Amino acid sequence: MGALTGPVLEISRSRFLENIAAVRRHITPSALMLVMKDDAYGHGLGWATDAACAALGRHDSFGAYDVATALRIRGSAPEAAVFAWVTSSDEEIARALAARIDLGVGTAEYLRRVIAASDAFGTPARVHLKIDTGLHRNGIRSEDWAEVVAEAVAAERAGLIRVAGVWTHLAEASDADDDVSAAEFHEASEQLRAAGTTPQWAHVTASAASWWRPELRGNLCRVGAFCYGIRSAEGPEIPGVLPVASLYAPVVAVDGDEAIIATGALHGLPSTLVGARVGTPRGPRTITRVDAVTMTVVDASGLRPGDTATVFGPGEAGEGDATSLAEHIGTVGEEILTRLTTGVRRVGVK
Ligand SMILES: *Cc1c(COP(=O)(O)O)cnc(C)c1O
Repeated sequence: MGALTGPVLEISRSRFLENIAAVRRHITPSALMLVMKDDAYGHGLGWATDAACAALGRHDSFGAYDVATALRIRGSAPEAAVFAWVTSSDEEIARALAARIDLGVGTAEYLRRVIAASDAFGTPARVHLKIDTGLHRNGIRSEDWAEVVAEAVAAERAGLIRVAGVWTHLAEASDADDDVSAAEFHEASEQLRAAGTTPQWAHVTASAASWWRPELRGNLCRVGAFCYGIRSAEGPEIPGVLPVASLYAPVVAVDGDEAIIATGALHGLPSTLVGARVGTPRGPRTITRVDAVTMTVVDASGLRPGDTATVFGPGEAGEGDATSLAEHIGTVGEEILTRLTTGVRRVGVK
């Protein structure tokens, strides 16, 4: 990499595609829903959509979080299945239906609004009903499930919606808790079947459980982190999966025994990053101060303005990936990557 004027997040297309392929191989015969939230985990939604289109199979799909993201994906993936699960406004529902976006439904009130929008639009909405199995974020509570199922099935019979999926999200706090959640999920799916509809998709697991708990998978896995090569914090390496992104930043000044690295807007990355190491062509250097836009590296010895520091990425003995850096401050790799603002230039490489 030549001399930089600012920080660069280098994102590897081939790495991304290899990760997707490794995840697909591992979860087969389940299909993959590639999760794209938070600007594709900081990698850039446009880049990630374009890259992934070629890698997804006929039954795979994109997981968009909100309708705005889903519409952006639709713009560059006209044929792909796209799923948006956050509760949205009526205007957003209408736009989603026009763009053939599948909708996640986690409340009775939202189901009613989707049915109304679908009736107005004239083509049945494809909905995925979400049962809350303990996370208490979004999801239909078990005590309300029977009533919501009855409404959904009636609307399906009336040709207003298609119940295309049933799903939940696991807490992944412990295997035992996830087992209880999975049992609740199966009971809820059974109720749906008994009420007269069998959705095409059942989805339960995100990266970690999709990988390590095959018995909990439905026929679709919603995977974000592992496709971007973000392993679980304190978790093992994932065979066949490597980080997609590396962050490089220039040494912009050397002042006495301190060298200043322009890491760009890591958006309030905490000063607790002090003590982590960055790689440099002259060996690893330890972070001694962090402020809003710069990091200061102790022991400038030998460093020169124009040198490139590897904030995370392979080689040069710094932190190998965003997760290693995150582990320094007791958090997850997503936390580092999604804090990189648009001020950090994304550069796609082969
Ligand atoms: C973020 C998210 C996922 C993906 O989680 P990873 O651990 O990144 O794979 C899946 N499902 C839902 C509902 C999510 O919010």
